[in-house]
Amino acid sequence: MQPRGFAKAERVVCPHVGLAPAARFGTVQRRKPGPARMASQSRDIVIVGGSIVGCATAYYLAQAGAIAGRRIAIVEKDPTYATCSTARSAGGLRQQFSTPENIAMSQVTLALIRDLKDRFGPEADVAFREQGYLILASADGAEVIAASVETQRRHGADILLLDRDELAARFPWLDLAGVACGSFGQSGEGWIDPVSLMTLFRTAARGAGVELIHDAVVGLEKSGDAVESVALASGTRLAAGTVVNAAGPAAGEVAALAGVRLPVEPRKRYVYVIDCRDAPEELRRGPLTVDPTGVWFRPEGRLFITGISPEERDEPPAIDLDAIDYSLFEEEVWPRLAARVPLFESIKVVNAWAGFYDYNTLDQNAIIGPHPEVRNFYFANGFSGHGLQQAAAAGRAVSELILHGRFCTIDLTRFGYARIAEGRPLRELNVI
Ligand SMILES: Cc1cc2nc3c(=O)[nH]c(=O)nc-3n(C[C@H](O)[C@H](O)[C@H](O)COP(=O)(O)OP(=O)(O)OC[C@H]3O[C@@H](n4cnc5c(N)ncnc54)[C@H](O)[C@@H]3O)c2cc1C
Repeated sequence: MQPRGFAKAERVVCPHVGLAPAARFGTVQRRKPGPARMASQSRDIVIVGGSIVGCATAYYLAQAGAIAGRRIAIVEKDPTYATCSTARSAGGLRQQFSTPENIAMSQVTLALIRDLKDRFGPEADVAFREQGYLILASADGAEVIAASVETQRRHGADILLLDRDELAARFPWLDLAGVACGSFGQSGEGWIDPVSLMTLFRTAARGAGVELIHDAVVGLEKSGDAVESVALASGTRLAAGTVVNAAGPAAGEVAALAGVRLPVEPRKRYVYVIDCRDAPEELRRGPLTVDPTGVWFRPEGRLFITGISPEERDEPPAIDLDAIDYSLFEEEVWPRLAARVPLFESIKVVNAWAGFYDYNTLDQNAIIGPHPEVRNFYFANGFSGHGLQQAAAAGRAVSELILHGRFCTIDLTRFGYARIAEGRPLRELNVI
């Protein structure tokens, strides 16, 4: 069955990137066929990880015409996607970042959402709730937030800096004790259903001819300065022209298979689902709100979801996603939540889940591009809690690098591996 998406005959050449010379792919060196090395066991591009970043990369490669005469495979170890970061995400899309590249990357997803039905068909829907982000700052944080808003506005984001009076008028359900100001996205921010967006990329990529292999990558074998083949748990060995690491929180482990250091590790985060029966309509239609203490909450249907990122010293062990720490809610989240929104004094926790952030321990920004010494090994990793909204831009950027050897749309050079090698952080100040 041809999955829904663009069919081969209708394939569109991306306006930004045309077809690339085959040489750019690091095209697979064909060896003599033998029992252990069949011609069919080679792929021009192997993407490790078939969730939103892997599928977006495949989608943009296909859009740019990379499929013609080339074999692109995604290797995904868990086609149920039950525990991947994407399926556990809060779905947030914001432009309130301090790093211009991050603003631009989120804007790619926003443009994609605005254009969703034209790209993916009339049924395409990611349930975008454009209710904005509201980031509150204490007096200590006011200067940083004001500078960030200036950057965001300069880059075309529709963000307002609100003083206390303006906050009180717009959001009467807030208690403003300790709040000096807040930044609010009037448009272009909100949240989506993460799995819907991932499914659109995946279906369209498969429809264009990208192969999805259900297997786990257990080895990356190098020859000289390149990954030569990808070993799968099933025993299959895929000779590979280019390898993309889209393994989310497991990206550090996958990089290590090629003997490469990547400072990305899983960090466990809890999301609590609460019922607040007395919440008025204006709170239910309110933004994703981030308290100066780090607690965040947003409406989710007739309920709300909430959470907090712990201090480095309080990070829980990155194991067992089924184990939920309810004491964190009782001791850290709820008191701050109720102090900020008095209506949240009367709530009931009705559910909770945990997921792993794909956390870049150097600077909490994405790592995008090839390894300088393993020239055909590309990263799209380390998004640290904002990778859902960056998957489209990251996938497009990696496809540009593979096809053209340079960024053609957004210049993400500063997100390259060089800063990792040099230990030179490019810090994002708005990490939630
Ligand atoms: C609680 C929580 C809330 C979040 N909220 C937001 C938010 O509001 N906004 C936002 O933008 N981002 C958010 N994020 C972050 C976002 O979800 C991630 O950055 C993003 O989903 C990463 O996508 P990915 O495809 O790289 O990783 P994943 O979705 O984790 O996918 C990686 C895939 O690789 C596969 N894989 C791993 N190793 C191998 C291997 N060896 N072989 C084969 N396959 C392999 C895995 O099975 C998995 O399917 C949140 C994350 C969490 C946990």
